[in-house]
Amino acid sequence: MINTKYELVIVGAGVVGMGVALAAHKKGVKKILIIDRHQACTGASIRNFGFITITGLRQKLMQKRALRSRDIWLDLTKKAKITVNHRGLYLLAQYKESMPVLEEYLKVDPRNTVRLLSKKEMASQSSLFKQNRNFGGLYSTDEVRIEPRLAIPAVAKYLQSIGIDFLWKEEVLDFSHQHIVTQKRKIQFKKLIMAPGNHLKGLGRDVFEKRKVESSKLHMLRIMPKKKIKLPGGIMADLTLMRYPGYENLPSKKKLDKVIKKKCRAELDNGIHVIVVQGKDGSLTIGDSHHYTNDTHYPFENEIVDNLILNKFDQVLPIGKYDVIERWVGEYPSGKKDYLDYWIDKNICIANVTTGIGMSTGFAFAEDVVNKLY
Ligand SMILES: Cc1cc2nc3c(=O)[nH]c(=O)nc-3n(C[C@H](O)[C@H](O)[C@H](O)COP(=O)(O)OP(=O)(O)OC[C@H]3O[C@@H](n4cnc5c(N)ncnc54)[C@H](O)[C@@H]3O)c2cc1C
Repeated sequence: MINTKYELVIVGAGVVGMGVALAAHKKGVKKILIIDRHQACTGASIRNFGFITITGLRQKLMQKRALRSRDIWLDLTKKAKITVNHRGLYLLAQYKESMPVLEEYLKVDPRNTVRLLSKKEMASQSSLFKQNRNFGGLYSTDEVRIEPRLAIPAVAKYLQSIGIDFLWKEEVLDFSHQHIVTQKRKIQFKKLIMAPGNHLKGLGRDVFEKRKVESSKLHMLRIMPKKKIKLPGGIMADLTLMRYPGYENLPSKKKLDKVIKKKCRAELDNGIHVIVVQGKDGSLTIGDSHHYTNDTHYPFENEIVDNLILNKFDQVLPIGKYDVIERWVGEYPSGKKDYLDYWIDKNICIANVTTGIGMSTGFAFAEDVVNKLY
């Protein structure tokens, strides 16, 4: 039964909203309500790779948040019965100009869980790396992959089991300093956190417009290999060096930029880099592309984008024949900063991860927000 008064009301049942609930519960806060406009979380939190990325994030806060969020995810795998599909990341250097960038990267990443592998060492990790062209690459043991479409509902179920209320299928249309208004009711709160994700034209619209937060649309695919394969961990390659901020200011990157701009013009124009992760059934989730707008995305998906992703995938992991079994798009907010916590007053905050790493950093970001709130 939904009450008319709560200590803490949270708008949005994505990873950020549920992270706020979890952090507040750990601090002993009672009477917490999460409201979502849909029948379940259907946003970015279930559409992503489920890849908790640590390598290549901006130092130091974002990597710190990613490591902390990874630990929260691992704790939840036990409490909410979530399966870890694989651990670790292999970032393959398919252009020789990527190797100096990776060497320089190791000097700025303080972890001792990330190292450079030669071509020979890479081949010894998995037979998949014998079949492709590579000059070696990075190997990090910290990353974790979970299946988001299963993990996010499992987290919601766990939160319910520890006494957090959920109100599904109601949109929060407005709020004052004491209550929120949905299409059906008014609910009083002491504290309010709004975590609307990519819903940029609803609550907090003015803030998102002022901060020039855009929507980024990504193409994603799931394929089933004809021949059974087992990924040794999550896979990325050179194009990731063009997108992740951890690599952006490294001296050797200028040389790599020149090569990639010449050889991968179409991929760069469509914001493509390759991430590959594996599910329990052996299928591979592959992506992604990036297209940006401050309005509504052009609704018609061009097949060229998917073909570019698949062609790049074939170069990164030549696994033979496969069937494409699913295609989808996902959207996340994208701003100048990696995150946005906008305090309307000391009890009300709009909390959003404004780059594509909310699955990796969202839980720790939520903890930081709750630490300011209480
Ligand atoms: C295709 C794709 C791949 C990605 N891959 C990765 C990855 O591998 N690793 C990584 O770290 N990150 C990844 N990300 C980013 C990550 O998924 C997001 O940063 C994160 O899920 C954002 O979580 P959120 O809770 O802010 O938003 P969401 O998951 O979008 O949740 C927001 C919720 O708020 C609800 N809502 C909004 N407004 C209202 C309202 N007024 N009333 C009621 N409910 C409302 C929505 O219905 C929604 O359920 C990816 C994103 C996409 C799209």
